[in-house]
Order: sequence, then structure tokens, then C-alpha cells
Amino acid sequence: MSTEARSNFLKTQIQSDLDGGQVEQLVTRFPPEPNGFLHLGHAKSITVNFELARRFGGRCHLRFDDTNPEKESQVFIEAIQEDVRWLGYQWDGEVRYASSYFQQLYDWALCLIDQGLAYVCDLTAEEAREYRGSLTQPGKDSPFRSRSVAENRELFEGMRAGQFSEGSRVLRAKIDMASPNINLRDPILYRIRMAHHHQTGGQWPIYPTYDFAHGQEDAIEGVTHSICTLEFEDHRPLYDWFIEHLPVPHRPRQFEFARLNTSYTVTSKRKLKALVDSGAVAGWDDPRMPTLAGLRRRGYPPAAIRHFCEEVGTSRSDSTVDVAMLESAVRNELNDSAPRAMAVLNPLRLTLTNVPEAEQLSVANHPNNEAMGSRPVPFTSELFIDAADFREEANKKYKRLVPGKRVRLRGAYVIEADRCDHDASGAVTRVYARIIEGTLGADPEDGIKARGVIHWVSAEAGVRAEVRCYDRLFNDPNPGKNDDVMSALNPDSLRVIGDAVLEPSLVEAAPEQVYQFEREGYFVADRFDHSAERPVFNMTIGLRDTWSAANA
Ligand code: ATP
Ligand code: MG
Repeated sequence: MSTEARSNFLKTQIQSDLDGGQVEQLVTRFPPEPNGFLHLGHAKSITVNFELARRFGGRCHLRFDDTNPEKESQVFIEAIQEDVRWLGYQWDGEVRYASSYFQQLYDWALCLIDQGLAYVCDLTAEEAREYRGSLTQPGKDSPFRSRSVAENRELFEGMRAGQFSEGSRVLRAKIDMASPNINLRDPILYRIRMAHHHQTGGQWPIYPTYDFAHGQEDAIEGVTHSICTLEFEDHRPLYDWFIEHLPVPHRPRQFEFARLNTSYTVTSKRKLKALVDSGAVAGWDDPRMPTLAGLRRRGYPPAAIRHFCEEVGTSRSDSTVDVAMLESAVRNELNDSAPRAMAVLNPLRLTLTNVPEAEQLSVANHPNNEAMGSRPVPFTSELFIDAADFREEANKKYKRLVPGKRVRLRGAYVIEADRCDHDASGAVTRVYARIIEGTLGADPEDGIKARGVIHWVSAEAGVRAEVRCYDRLFNDPNPGKNDDVMSALNPDSLRVIGDAVLEPSLVEAAPEQVYQFEREGYFVADRFDHSAERPVFNMTIGLRDTWSAANA
């Protein structure tokens, strides 16, 4: 089903808001906190927000929710912008920052104080926890709740001026300590933090909380539909409370949908950071990581990720999507878009005893797409085939090379194997075979057909390369179920082949170009490490889903 056809509750809501005139133009936003790289879950949020804006002729902002300076950095800010663009989206106008609104947020905090709706509280964190109550017990009023407006103003201005130490006081909203919704029990609006901020430097010794900042940021930007995940549903009454009690220029509304959870995948920046910090992966963009930078380096096409996000739909009930669905979207996309080429991952020498001269063959780049053209492939008497494609003895099911039997070399001749050499341990070191004349693009005249097709590379013209074969990073279908993500790791998720042999055309591969290596799978020229002098390819994905079958 296409995106356009698949309806969801957000589209219905927006359509009715536009039809009813509550909203003139749709404005959404994607609001990452720059404390890590974006992951597959964020891709869902990005596609939801940007696609809705596109569909309804609205706009979508990129806004960094940068209210936790200690954990944030410019590196993440840049990586996130690059990832959003790579996924295929361009935000409206300049990049926005919550930190640009710090003055306005501060003024609005004073506005709440002046209305008697906020107070400075000196309880310690531990005391505050006791006063908060629990799900079954109401909270108790803080002894500081009755401070006068004048005193609150003076203290809050003192907090702003850097007169008090970290943790000594906070600003809280004055709502209801007995509310059944704990979020309404006088939530914290500001904390003292003597932290350097990547955007505002040392200007602010106090920082607003997510709850106080987010809705007001939406209001400043004229966001109409503030779309977030279900864990914020209980925060919505607070979101609305601020909007109601402040002189905001716009009245945004919050809507929640279920997070994207995918099997065999971790979508928590904190846990992904643990993998990076421990060295279990080579970095945030390790091709095994479910980060957008990792999926990119792995060769996943952005269109496949978008299609996957569309396919899983947008609902209000939590569920886990099988990662095989993403992998299948990747295969579908690459089957159409990836040119074919030949690479031998486990080379075995094949000598053709009746080929006196080298020849330049022309091989199609795609079996069903002539527009993709063809390329020259050198054919010589010395070739490499994959060691798995030759056996000295085999039954009928084995459709590859066996002495006395025939196979077709992909895009070239039918050959018949005669004999092989062994080393001291008995391993096959070289195979001897003959081509059957007249079989380039034709069946043998004697009627004895080839059993199958194998791929090959000229030993003289082929180029040595490093090929990194990846498997799933986790063995556990639910690797994020507890904090110990390390125990869920698949110990065999990376296998480096140092001496694969590529057909020479692959040397020209542009970084990030994905190919189908015939009979092996999809492989991408590494974005950073690949060069003509030192070719490096990463395995994107196999041709078929062998994992589900093996682990069923
Ligand atoms: P994490 O738990 O990995 O840190 P987060 O929600 O804290 O994720 P943010 O940077 O705050 O990370 O997220 C930016 C936006 O992406 C938010 O609107 C958030 O709701 C959304 N988002 C994050 N994870 C998912 C997910 N798994 N599915 C859908 N949306 C998500
Ligand atoms: Mg968050």
C-alpha cells in the first residue's frame, strides 16, 4: 500500500482542523535533542512530520531541543542535520534552537510568577521526591509554596544572575500537589546548572525543563501540531496548562503516536552510546548500528527507510515491527537500483586450458533494465571462482562445478571441469577446465547443458579488495529489554575478508554506490575508506532472508 493510500489518525485530525478552519496552514517540527546520532526510531518521527507537512502543503521545522547542555554537542548538531537531509528532507527556513528562546522562556517564567502560578522551591531533590507522593498517594505542598510574588521574583532573578549554587533551588509551577497526574504536582520549570552551552556559552546559569520549554517553543514557532510519542500523553495536560496561562502568540496542540520498535534493534540513544563508548562497535556510524549514519554506511537506501516507515503505519498502540520488514524494503529498492557486478569473496584459481587469448566481454549491468547499460569485463585463461562453487564430488542437487560436468560462467561461456590440484593438506588449490566453443550467449551444440551459473573474475585483471561482511548486531530479538545491551550482542556480526577479488570496473565505484555482487548480495563502496587504490566494500544485505529461516 502506498503512503498516500494508507490513512492514519493524524491525517484525519489535520484534515478536520484544516476543514474546520482551526488551522490555516499545517506546521510541524522534528525536535531532536543533540545528545547522540539519530536512529531508526527518529526516522519514523522525521517521516511522520515531514510527510504530513508535504501532504497538506504545510511546513516542517528542524528544532534542536537543546536544554541539557552537559550531554549535547556541536558534533551531534551537525550529524543530525546531515542525516535528515540524507533521508530526503529539507526543513523550512533556518535550523532552529530551543536555546534561541531562552530569554522569552525566562520572561514567561516571570509572567507565571507574577500571576502567582510559579514559585522558587528550596527543597532538596530527596525532600522533593518525598513531597511528590506516588501513583497511589497524593503529594504534599512544599513549605516554600506560599512565598510572595515579590520574594519569588527576587529569588528567580537571583537564580538567573548566578547567585545560587547548583541544586540549591528550582522554579516550580504552582498547580496541584494532589493531582492524580503526577506531572501536574508542581513540576519543575527551571534548574540551576553552571554549564557551558554549545550555543549560548556561559550566558545562562539556569535551564528550562523539557516540559516548560517544549510547548512554548512550539508556540513561538507557530507549530500547529506538535507530534510526539505516547510516553508524553500524560504530559499533555501540562503542555496545555502553560499555553493557557501564558501570553503565547500561537496555540499549538500536542498529538501522540506509538514509538517505532523494531526487533533485533536498539532505539535508545543512551544504549547506543553505551555500545560506542565500550568499543563494541567502531562508532556511531558503524555499519551495524541502527543509526541513520550507520544504515547509510551499510548501504541502506534512504528511500527504503522511508518506505519502511510508511509501511509500518502510524498508530496509537505499541507494537514491535519485525526487522525483516526493513530488510525486505532494502532488498526491493536495491533489486531495482543496484547495478550488477562480479566479486569473488573466497577465491579459488580456475585455469582454462583452451583459452589462448584474453577477450573483452560486454556484460549487462542489470538483467531487466537495459537503460543501465553494460560494461566491459575482461575474460582470460586464468580466473578466480568462489571456492564454494567447486566440489570434486557432488550429488545432483549441487548445480555448480564438478569434474566432468558443465556450468556457465556468468555473462561468458559454458565450461567443463577436468581436474584439480591439491595442497599437502588435501585442499583444492586450482581447478582446470575447458570452455565449450560457441557457447557465448548460446547453449552447447552437443545438447549437454550447463547445470547452473557461477560468477568469476579474471585473475590477471581482477583487483584485490577488503570486503566487510556484516550480520545482525544482536542475537536477541529484544536487545533493549534491559540495560545490559552487551549481553545481547551477536559475537559474529563482523567478518572481514582481506583478499576478495573484484572485477576491474568496481575500482571506479563512487563511495556509497551499492552493487549487487552476483550470487552474493548487495555491497556498498565504503563512504570513507574506499578508494581506487584500496577498494573497500561493506555488505549491505544478502540476496535472501536466510536469518529468519535459520532462526525459525
Ligand atoms: P532516545 O530515547 O533515543 O534518546 P528521544 O525521544 O529521547 O530518543 P529525541 O532527540 O528527544 O530523542 O527525539 C526527537 C523526536 O524523535 C521526538 O519527537 C521523539 O518522540 C521522536 N522519537 C524518538 N524515538 C522514536 C521512536 N522509536 N519512534 C518514533 N519517534 C521517536
Ligand atoms: Mg527525548
